[in-house]
Amino acid sequence: MVSEFLTTREKIFFLLEETDKPLTARQIKEILHLDSEKDVYEHLRHVALSAKRKGYKLVVQYPVCSNCGFMFDDKLTKPSRCPRCGSTKIAPPRFLIRRSSL
Ligand SMILES: [Zn+2]
Repeated sequence: MVSEFLTTREKIFFLLEETDKPLTARQIKEILHLDSEKDVYEHLRHVALSAKRKGYKLVVQYPVCSNCGFMFDDKLTKPSRCPRCGSTKIAPPRFLIRRSSL
C-alpha cells in the first residue's frame, strides 16, 4: 500500500469507493485518523466534485430526524435540529462512491 502518499481527499475517495456500507463522517474520521468531523464534510464537498470528473458519483443517504422521520434531502452535513418537530436527534448522512452508470 502507498496510502501514506495519498492526500486526505484521495484517501476518502478510495475508502468510499471500496466500502460496502455507506459511512458517516464520524466513521470516515475514525478510519482515516482525521482531526474533525467538520473537516470531513468539507473534504466531501470537494471529493464529490472530483469524483464526478472521474466518472464516479458520491451517493448520499440524507440525514433523517430520528423523532419524526423528516428527511433532509438537500443536506450533506449533519443538521443541528429538525425544522418540523425541533428534535436534535438527527441520524447523520452516510456516504459512498460508485461509478456513474453510463
Ligand atoms: Zn423531526
